[in-house]
Amino acid sequence: DSEILAEIREIIREKSVELIHLQFVDIEGILKSITVTAEQIEDVIEGKQMFDGSSVKGFSPINKSDLYLMPDYSTFAVLPWTVEDGYSEARFLCSATNPDGTLFEGDTRNVLKKTVDRAAAQGYTISVGPELEFFLFKADENGNPTMELSDNGGYFEPSPKDLGEKVRLEIYRALKAMGFIIEASHHEVAEGQHEINFKYADALGAADLATTYKWVVKTIAQKFGLHATFMPKPVFGINGSGMHVNMSFFKDGENAFYDPTDELQLSNKAYQFIGGLIENVKNFTAVTNPLVNSYKRLVPGYEAPCYIAWSASNRSALIRIPAKKGMATRVELRCPDPSANPYLTFAVIASAGLDGIEKDLKAPAPINEDIFHMTDEYRTQLGIENLPGSLESAVAELENGEIGRKTLGEHVYNKYVTAKKAEWNNYRTAVHTWELVNYQSKF
Ligand code: GLN
Ligand code: MG
Ligand code: MG
Repeated sequence: DSEILAEIREIIREKSVELIHLQFVDIEGILKSITVTAEQIEDVIEGKQMFDGSSVKGFSPINKSDLYLMPDYSTFAVLPWTVEDGYSEARFLCSATNPDGTLFEGDTRNVLKKTVDRAAAQGYTISVGPELEFFLFKADENGNPTMELSDNGGYFEPSPKDLGEKVRLEIYRALKAMGFIIEASHHEVAEGQHEINFKYADALGAADLATTYKWVVKTIAQKFGLHATFMPKPVFGINGSGMHVNMSFFKDGENAFYDPTDELQLSNKAYQFIGGLIENVKNFTAVTNPLVNSYKRLVPGYEAPCYIAWSASNRSALIRIPAKKGMATRVELRCPDPSANPYLTFAVIASAGLDGIEKDLKAPAPINEDIFHMTDEYRTQLGIENLPGSLESAVAELENGEIGRKTLGEHVYNKYVTAKKAEWNNYRTAVHTWELVNYQSKF
């Protein structure tokens, strides 16, 4: 630690860092921030910054509201868009701690740490590569989002069709300056839709990267008069935005999912991991797909999954095995969307996979046909179940299963279920445009 701290102090001097943002996330993964001056760095690194946890969604009750922020030193970064001559700002991502220094159980970053520890106890480190898609909408003169998309480009379409190319370049530069290793960037299938891919990391690191990515994308888009959204299905009739999660377990420096002797080059552990996902996915969909709107993406025909099946190559399947093998062998879960809290999302996926390994759950037979075009009867015959069709049924499945309570812990689990039920109820009782269009004149 002393080495990395010396480096941080040096950067603060060198880049004239004046302000430091102490960031953390609430239960929905929404970024929160308290700003201190750089003079306070010594107190900050000791975790002495206090805050009121009772005003943060999903955090503590009013009578036990004093919490502290313990920065994760590895997340220190100067914010490239603040750098001027003789001035800059930096940030840390933090974990919330109790006054006695223990990790606060209501902080979802700490929830993921528990699953990381559970894997570590069995000798595994968890590698995660998330792929977050987003839409760019034009903002109006007040900076509010409109429904007008930034461009009408399509999959892999280059400029001049892709007005987003310039924005993506700036996002890329900012992410790179903050330490991201960017692998690719492209226009996605839908108009106004984009994706920038960064290199996988350990589970906690990857959740930190996903959180930072969403913030940077929104921040840079705004500088171009655009509004970036990670809402899963902003426009009816075209693709929504996913957050595919690629995951593998490493043991003793080796990829535990790789076995060159197997037909698909997958190890028994990989098959058990897939078995664990298939077994638990219905019960954790409320976490990986947290919004009312999430379920409008999980419908046939838009490259998003809605049936519970796996395949080596099939993009209509929920779980896919990307072609790259060896150290890159991994399982891709395609249901999560980028509105999900990445800490909770990676925790439930890893936890379900660990269950598969611990309980020796067998992966069912892979489905290599196009599942979207099967008849309902044929799907039933093959034993293919559906993902939950709404937030309401996803929350009911979360309550039916063990995986949520066990992985999230009592505190976060209870707050989560309560919040999601309230969200559904609010939606259920609201009158939507669709109802007016279809019913108002007819009845
Ligand atoms: N947008 C699709 C989804 O909702 C994914 C498309 C792709 O990356 N091939 O998951
Ligand atoms: Mg994509
Ligand atoms: Mg993918």
